[in-house]
Amino acid sequence: MSERSLGGHSLTSSERPSRSFGKNRTCKEPGCETQLSMYNSGKYCYRHEPMAVPRTRGKKIA
Ligand SMILES: [Zn+2]
Repeated sequence: MSERSLGGHSLTSSERPSRSFGKNRTCKEPGCETQLSMYNSGKYCYRHEPMAVPRTRGKKIA
């Protein structure tokens, strides 16, 4: 009867708070009631987000 002691079976239950930007946030655009994702760091939805439109055309980034 060989009893093996499995030591070191420690559960890594390090529950760190997920980085979210809050729930129930809506687009800041007046009239727009699009609910933002909790992972969306912006204040606008994907349609009103100013940075959503790529303006790299004609602008060379070395
Ligand atoms: Zn919007």
